[in-house]
Amino acid sequence: MNGCIFCKIVSGDIPSYKVYETGETLAFLDIHPVAKGHTLVIPKSHSRNIMDILPQDWAHVSETVRIVAIGLEKALGADGVNLMMNNREHAGQVVDHPHMHIIPRFKGDGLTQWPHGAYAQDEAQIVQEKIRSALS
Ligand code: AMP
Ligand code: ZN
Repeated sequence: MNGCIFCKIVSGDIPSYKVYETGETLAFLDIHPVAKGHTLVIPKSHSRNIMDILPQDWAHVSETVRIVAIGLEKALGADGVNLMMNNREHAGQVVDHPHMHIIPRFKGDGLTQWPHGAYAQDEAQIVQEKIRSALS
């Protein structure tokens, strides 16, 4: 799509450090890594995020994420990986082309996890029902 920087990476108009590629997906280094080796996996076809990506594109992306996560952990001697995807502005999405972050993690790397909350009495059931009815 015009003006989309990740489409430009796919077309080669913007350079990138590619680490893996299939007919439908591309994996390349994030230019501002959370940790060295932080990799992005994108579909080659343009969409915006998880809300509008075609199911087949998502299937290809998730399989590429699986392959790259295994290779990346091994290559870097990492102790684990985080997978993350930001969807829409208020969830932290800056580039409007779907991308999964693969972040290598190392024992004692000091990266903090998200804080955990708690449900009030009956609240989990109310939330559960809301989600279940939207999905039924
Ligand atoms: P998000 O906040 O989930 O939309 O993440 C967008 C990511 O794209 C950020 O982590 C950026 O560092 C990364 N990024 C932006 N431009 C480029 C680029 N030209 N090459 C590689 N990574 C990029
Ligand atoms: Zn795009």
